[in-house]
Amino acid sequence: MQAEDRTAHGPERDPVCGRELTREQALLSAEVKDRTYFFCSERCRLMFSIRPAWFVERDGAPTRRQAS
Ligand SMILES: [Zn+2]
Repeated sequence: MQAEDRTAHGPERDPVCGRELTREQALLSAEVKDRTYFFCSERCRLMFSIRPAWFVERDGAPTRRQAS
């Protein structure tokens, strides 16, 4: 496995819908806590901007689940 270049040039993941985005698809972005997140659509970016913590925590540290 050669994963060296993947971190810099690999697809970004939309934290809202979970879709993998190529550079061409990742038209929208938002920065939270010095990290840049990419989105497939304005709708996903809007969802993220309302409550970024929901998606950031799920993405980075999936240890806690909150039952509704
Ligand atoms: Zn999306």
